[in-house]
Amino acid sequence: MELLHKLILESGTVLEEKVLRVDSFLNHGVDPNLMMEIGKEFAEYFANRGINKVITIESSGIAPAVMTAYHLGVPLLVFKKQTSRTLKDSLIQTTVHSFTKDVDYQLTVSRKYLTSQDNVLFIDDFLATGEAALGVVRVLEQVGAKMSGVGIVVEKTFQPGHEILKQHGYDVYSLARIQSLANNRVTFASDV
Ligand code: 5GP
Repeated sequence: MELLHKLILESGTVLEEKVLRVDSFLNHGVDPNLMMEIGKEFAEYFANRGINKVITIESSGIAPAVMTAYHLGVPLLVFKKQTSRTLKDSLIQTTVHSFTKDVDYQLTVSRKYLTSQDNVLFIDDFLATGEAALGVVRVLEQVGAKMSGVGIVVEKTFQPGHEILKQHGYDVYSLARIQSLANNRVTFASDV
């Protein structure tokens, strides 16, 4: 996706050769035009798969996921990273290790909003080790829901997430694929 690649090159910054900061348009500031394009692209790619719900993890997945849900004409369900006093329903939880924060969190969703009838599309901002996506898979397995695709805004191909999800049989579609962040420089997979 041209606009995404352009913004990554113009305003992305590299942290420790493994982490890309994209705070100006995806993780802190959010570019609505870009989110609209992303949502359209994912909706086109994952059309005709009987998807009835888009899911994501708070908070950086929400902007691209809500636009995807809008274009598919289905609701969005946001998985939480912790319980709160307002979550009173019966909950499904699993422990996930955060690659960027290097801490564990409790991926949490209410049973009220996820059932065995659901056929979901998982959207996230980044794919690195695949821990977050595998956490989502464990939650879906607990209710018997199906996952028909994974849409990722930025994938780092030098980390194992995509390969692991592929081995589990999932179709992963990434809009930007980064082969390397060495020497503080972004190299896209298609560049090499
Ligand atoms: P994974 O579970 O695949 O290791 O990492 C996925 C999550 O970690 C994403 O939801 C994202 O929040 C965060 N993440 C992983 N790598 C990066 C990165 O390079 N930059 C940013 N901003 N977030 C990342």
